[in-house]
Amino acid sequence: MPGELGTVPVTIVKSGLVVACILVTAAATSSRAQSPASPIEDEVMRHYQAVLRVDSTDPPGNESGVVAYLKEQLEREGIPIEIFQLEPNRPNLVARLKGNGSKRPLLLMAHTDTVNVDPKKWTFPPFSATRDGGYVYGRGAVDNKQDVAVGLMTMLRLKRENVRLDRDVIFLAEAGEEGTTRVGILHMANDHFPAIDAEYCLAEGGGVTRVGGRVKYASVETTEKIPRAIELTARGPAGHGSIPLENNALTHLTQAVAAAATWVPPVSLNETTAAYFKRLASISTPEEAERYRAVLSPDPKVSGPADAYFRKQEPIHASMIRSSISPTMVQAGYRVNVIPSEVKATLDVRTLPDQDPAAFLEVVRKVINDPSVEVAWAARDVRPAAPPARLDSDAFRAIEANVKKHYDAITLPTLLTGATDMAYLRAKGMQCYGIGPALDVEDQTKGFGAHSDQERILETEFQRYARFYYDIVKDVAGQP
Ligand SMILES: [Zn+2]
Repeated sequence: MPGELGTVPVTIVKSGLVVACILVTAAATSSRAQSPASPIEDEVMRHYQAVLRVDSTDPPGNESGVVAYLKEQLEREGIPIEIFQLEPNRPNLVARLKGNGSKRPLLLMAHTDTVNVDPKKWTFPPFSATRDGGYVYGRGAVDNKQDVAVGLMTMLRLKRENVRLDRDVIFLAEAGEEGTTRVGILHMANDHFPAIDAEYCLAEGGGVTRVGGRVKYASVETTEKIPRAIELTARGPAGHGSIPLENNALTHLTQAVAAAATWVPPVSLNETTAAYFKRLASISTPEEAERYRAVLSPDPKVSGPADAYFRKQEPIHASMIRSSISPTMVQAGYRVNVIPSEVKATLDVRTLPDQDPAAFLEVVRKVINDPSVEVAWAARDVRPAAPPARLDSDAFRAIEANVKKHYDAITLPTLLTGATDMAYLRAKGMQCYGIGPALDVEDQTKGFGAHSDQERILETEFQRYARFYYDIVKDVAGQP
């Protein structure tokens, strides 16, 4: 199952404020971009460009170049590292700064591989780390080499600035997130867990949403849906296409797919999604706020209309409040004039963390209600279920405080519809929080973003993220 950051939810501000903000922000951004960079800003940019220039696309997956760079930088600073490698060229690097042990460690996780590229789609060569127009361009710029660079810089700064630590700070630069978890997180969690065991973990999965150049809110991922797959198999008599048959297998299959896809699973909220919609309502227009509050109601007459609106206009919100089904693949037929006797379809299923999979499958069977269609779970690496990370923890409070300090924005605890490697650590009892830099929603429509044709980030937002990240780590692991 390739890593799937999925999309951090975005709600467009429906107010006329945008234009004015763009002008103000553009001026502010350019003046900050023009001010001379500090030595720390120069250095973290240098590390960022260095790791972006390494082609570590997966497949084929070769993270050794990135790890060699990290090893050199960390050892030069006298920070001990270990390499854990299940297969050649797929190293996982672990660096540790010792605290006084009064509290359990803090883990900083970043993945060093990226998804592939189509060079024709890039403004600048995808591994050139070109800086242009206030942006840095490169495959991995926002998924996930920004965390590789700020994680490295955080370790170097903690060491250099002699920050006294109550907790060990562990930096894990993991392999294989984009498709080969067996060499990365599964190898670390199953074979070398003591090397990364911690109370809290910071990783990808969240982000700060900018609309019209203005920060709207920060999403902090505390839980995620579990990717699964259902396979539908319909069987029926084979035949000649010139003689239509009542029990044509393909007819039954398509009816089953339509039934499963149009079924509306029940709404189910958890601590994270309840907090998400409550807080989102507080920063939305009255009309939007009414819907975000309505979906919290246990009365379907109240939540129903809001949910119906989401399913049409804000599908990501509809997906956050239920286990979901998306038909994605069909294997059927081989000749226009032959009625096939066996056909298959695959449904991408995402269950909520507390959803009982057997019960869900049983309901889908009932919804399809066709004995000639077999309904079964398909082979897929299923991530372990785990309760959401707590909202009343030191780590979450430190993240919230730094969102306020660095972005002057509200924090929305978020259920990710996609999946990250945090799932494997949460299943081990680690409280994991997904964070990320500020990105413009407008960039997504221009083809920039995680798993998109191109990736880029504003230099000013990369630098702000580096400061934000460092301060969270200091607040969680440093001595008060
Ligand atoms: Zn990623």
